[in-house]
Amino acid sequence: MHWADRIAKEIIASGKFKPYWVDDMKTPSGRIHVGSLRGMVIHNLIYVALLEQGVKAKFTWVFDNHDPMDALPVYLEKEKWSKYLGQPLFKIPSPDGKAENYAKYFADEFITVFNKIGCNPEVLWASDFYLSGKMNEDIRLCLSKADVIRKIYEGIYHKKLPTDWYPFQVVCPNCGKESTTKVTTWDGEKVTFECKVDAVDWTKGCGTKGKISPFSRKDHFAGKLPWKIDWVVKWKIIGVTVEGAGKDHMTAGGSHDIASEVCKKVLNYPVPYPIDYEHFLIGGKKMSSSKGLGVSAKEMSEILPPYLLRFLFVKTNYRQAIDFDPRGNLAIPDLFDEYDKAWEAYDKGGDEKLARTHVLSQVGKIPEKEKGFFVPRFRDIANFLSQGFSLDEIVGKLNESKGGKIDDSEMGIIEERVKYAKVWLENYAPEEYRFDMKDIKSINIKSLSEEQKKYLKAIPRIYNDGDTAESLQISLYELSKQLKIPTKDAFVAIYLAFIGKTHGPRAGMLLAKFGKKKIVERILEVTK
Ligand SMILES: [Zn+2]
Repeated sequence: MHWADRIAKEIIASGKFKPYWVDDMKTPSGRIHVGSLRGMVIHNLIYVALLEQGVKAKFTWVFDNHDPMDALPVYLEKEKWSKYLGQPLFKIPSPDGKAENYAKYFADEFITVFNKIGCNPEVLWASDFYLSGKMNEDIRLCLSKADVIRKIYEGIYHKKLPTDWYPFQVVCPNCGKESTTKVTTWDGEKVTFECKVDAVDWTKGCGTKGKISPFSRKDHFAGKLPWKIDWVVKWKIIGVTVEGAGKDHMTAGGSHDIASEVCKKVLNYPVPYPIDYEHFLIGGKKMSSSKGLGVSAKEMSEILPPYLLRFLFVKTNYRQAIDFDPRGNLAIPDLFDEYDKAWEAYDKGGDEKLARTHVLSQVGKIPEKEKGFFVPRFRDIANFLSQGFSLDEIVGKLNESKGGKIDDSEMGIIEERVKYAKVWLENYAPEEYRFDMKDIKSINIKSLSEEQKKYLKAIPRIYNDGDTAESLQISLYELSKQLKIPTKDAFVAIYLAFIGKTHGPRAGMLLAKFGKKKIVERILEVTK
């Protein structure tokens, strides 16, 4: 059984967690990295599995746009943006000057990607919970039970908290920062606060002190609960009954333990069904969206077709780390192969779990099973393309391997794979697929004969702007006949001069790819 089906079954069998409301949350502090899609897809799959098991369920996604900006992404200018550090993300202007605010800009980018891979939760904004006044009653409760919350923290962290510690961060009415403020008393209506100069080491507070109401209202955001408490109150406000988190929040003594205790001892709200999922690594490394490290969800969605990106999360047990590096040797062709295997299992009625993985990876309608399953391998298509074959020629070759004529649906698959193979060849494929022009220093000019040099010198004469790979291939061939140099020697000269090898893809394709200017320059260098 697929893990998502098993979890859904377990949730239903427990008799608890009703009504089923699946949710997850994310702070849009910058370009959201691809790892965050993992939480999205895991929750989406459990939601889908619940529906398929015949129960009613809801699926929401909260953007914590009220969290402060706590680091500057590397792609933003320090001079312009560092003044916003410590302010709520939804109060900061959008980097493109068009979106409603900073948080919205990055959240929208992420929404586009998750919609594209078949996840369509109802999107909620944490700022709305505050500005609508929905949080106020529980803010009052948490401030009034500050001693209970203090004890929970102390019990789990084994560290004494000062008696003037309160679970709230006001937005400083003077400088607009929320990371720098500290609340020290609560009288049932107002808190005493100070905007401390040295509260954090990445931005400075302004020193303002005073008494202020912690309650937000329309057009006034007064401040927020600390993250772990805020998390729990949102569960209660929304009615969340199923929500997981990355494993670092879920370890013993971690954020989830605090949240669970607050559920029981402060809010009297049942702890949602937890799902502790593993990380997503790129080449063995963790990523950070606030620092702008790693591959963003958007970038990955441009490299892989939607179903394949979805498949990456569906195929891996949520408790296993995913380590996927698109730059890794043959990572993308391997992923396509794995996908095709699951597809075949579905089509031919093979391994049940694999077949289910295929079904759950689909975006939109699940395709009909077909007789005579034939799917052209991604790496074959990439290989043909790298050698300079045209689409027609590739189809001809695939007709041969199929042992029959490629039909319309197969043609659609080929065209799509050609599109993604071009992206892969251009950006991620290992050298043997790429045929980049080599640095002149690594070219062994001495190995070119006088005859070969003569041939190379003649190339600019037959190279016209606008020549295609095919037309160039013919002209290059004719040129060798004209100059009475064996065609093989002529083409070897091209490979030696441009890619430093004695063999390569079609010479016409190579020269079309490099363009006339670079070619003339290189020929002058190797023939002088
Ligand atoms: Zn301040």
